[in-house]
Amino acid sequence: MPNDRIVTVLNVDDYAAGRYATTRLLRQAGFEVLEAQTGSDALRRATENPDLIVLDINLPDIDGFEVCRRLKADPQTADIPVLQMSASYLGTENRVRGLEGGADAYLTQPVQPRELVATVNALLRSRQVRDAVRESEERFRTLVESTAQVIWTVSPEGEVERDLPSWSAFTGQARAEYEGRGWLDAVHPEDRDRALAAWTQSAPDGQPREIEIRVRRHDGEFRHLLVRGVPMRERDGSAREWIGAGHDITEHKRADEALRFLDEAGRTLAASLEMKTTLEKIAELALSGLADLCTIDLLEDGAIRRVVVRTRHAREDGAAAALRDMLPTLDDPNSLVATAFRTGKAQLVSVVDDEVIRGIAHDEEYRNVLRGLKAKTAMAIPLRARGETMGVLGMSRQDGQGHYGPDDLALAEELARRAALAVDNARLYEEAREASQAKSQFLATMSHELRTPMNAIMGYADLLDAEVAGPLLPEQRSQLQRITASSQHLLQLIDSILTFSRLEAGREVVQRDTVDLCALVRETAMLVEPMAAAKDLTFHVDVPENSLVTLTDAGKVRQIVLNLLGNAVKFTDSGVVSLRLAPDADRTNAVMEVSDTGIGIPLEQRERIFDPFSQVEQTPSRRFGGTGLGLSVTRHLARLLGGDVVLRSEVGRGSTFSVRLPLHSGVPAATEPAASAGV
Ligand code: ADP
Repeated sequence: MPNDRIVTVLNVDDYAAGRYATTRLLRQAGFEVLEAQTGSDALRRATENPDLIVLDINLPDIDGFEVCRRLKADPQTADIPVLQMSASYLGTENRVRGLEGGADAYLTQPVQPRELVATVNALLRSRQVRDAVRESEERFRTLVESTAQVIWTVSPEGEVERDLPSWSAFTGQARAEYEGRGWLDAVHPEDRDRALAAWTQSAPDGQPREIEIRVRRHDGEFRHLLVRGVPMRERDGSAREWIGAGHDITEHKRADEALRFLDEAGRTLAASLEMKTTLEKIAELALSGLADLCTIDLLEDGAIRRVVVRTRHAREDGAAAALRDMLPTLDDPNSLVATAFRTGKAQLVSVVDDEVIRGIAHDEEYRNVLRGLKAKTAMAIPLRARGETMGVLGMSRQDGQGHYGPDDLALAEELARRAALAVDNARLYEEAREASQAKSQFLATMSHELRTPMNAIMGYADLLDAEVAGPLLPEQRSQLQRITASSQHLLQLIDSILTFSRLEAGREVVQRDTVDLCALVRETAMLVEPMAAAKDLTFHVDVPENSLVTLTDAGKVRQIVLNLLGNAVKFTDSGVVSLRLAPDADRTNAVMEVSDTGIGIPLEQRERIFDPFSQVEQTPSRRFGGTGLGLSVTRHLARLLGGDVVLRSEVGRGSTFSVRLPLHSGVPAATEPAASAGV
């Protein structure tokens, strides 16, 4: 008892002198004293809640043993310590009888005053300890009952031996059901062994243990619980019991899984451009996270077209296959898919039963198909991009995984958002590819057609030059030479357009032969020399004397050299154009460098000029001719041959294009088609 509180003792004795002596003694020791003379008087006064009762045995009405038994039997007075005192009931026998009746101590008269006070104090101290324990237990119980956590204790044998109110509230199990190992019934069958093992295996380190298990909630739904248990130990270190708390992490887990699912969906869909694979991936995603059956419908020329029907289990069972032909019309007021198309809003039917099926399907055949699907819950989510509904993603689930609710709907809508974007991209990509193919086709046809009249022009120019039709005046010959030079230039342009369209269509083939790169490069350079000379440029060719033999396509190497040297001369007004060829240090590549002292190329243009039809100067008044195809073709050819082109340049000082070509040896390889289109 706290020291500042007055402590009350009820003194029960029918013998006035004895009662007086005891009361006096207790008062002197600082206690407040109430008195009673009979057993019934004592029982009544005990309800005033004294802190202790000194009880004589020899009472006129009910004897002290019986009074004590009744006091201890009544919850209201059971906690009050009872000190029994007797002058007449001496001996061990009576002492035992008194203590067994519930007395907390037993003294025989005559009692030494100091012994009486010391005994009263000892009893009060132990009551104080008991009260403190009870208070703490009460606090713990209140905590357990008021928390959202599931609190439990099990023995090291995995058995429940106590009341578990929060477990009861969570699972709906009554004590008789969860007692012993009955609690395992509420644990998911797949998690039972793990749950039992966690609390029956000894914990030598005494560390808390944590497991995640599924527990059936009172409403039948399995919830994920993160359960943490701490072993309580005996003095010898062995586990006495486990005390722990389970925390329902289902929502947290769901949110986490949804995020991961959407993240994965975003990445998967971003990586696909082709319509067919995009649709397949959408279906796979829906089946992996949301549905047992998935359909994708697209709107084509005002009608619904079903492009995907996929089930999770079999590739496509009978009912699902029949669904392919069961297409609703856009104006069908009952169809979920048609409604999603018309309204652009997601449609959810949480519980699909026969009444719902009869509402959706107008004829018996359709109803039977829907019944065959065994769907218990369904959704139809519009696929919307750029403000238009272009498709609908249909999903349904069979028994056992719960009905679709707001969370599933939200997740499905997020998936549909990403899916719609991917479908839209695939559509745009298809259109762009078709346009690009049409353009390549046009270029190929056009340049092919241009070649015929060009060849005629050049052929007749040759005839004139050979003076077959009569002698030429000097002035006429010089004009004829200009016609020939311009024709050749035009033919070159036509050829590069043809090569470009062949490359873009993936039709350019590599024809490998044994080639001496030194000889080939030297001869090709000679073709450009007159152009350099005409502009008074120094033309410098540095190619090794000995040969550099490799397996390559000579025509393509020649075209690369002509393009780069032609550009170097074209974009240089004075100074030097040079070509250098050498093997690299370990002779795995040949490196060819074409340098000039020309106008140079600004940094921001250095990548762009390799794009088709791309030129630094694109104003109508540009000084230099050309199509903007040369570098694009050059780089593609170099890559086809297994090499590449890089550029260094300084504006106003010149440029260096460096081409790497691998040095192959061995037998000529078979003809191979170009690796890819899209120059
Ligand atoms: P074209 O020469 O027919 O315009 P190219 O693809 O060969 O097409 O070159 C693209 C553009 O790159 C040129 O128009 C020019 O602006 C720039 N370019 C190419 N080579 C050089 C060079 N040696 N010096 C400066 N600019 C160059």
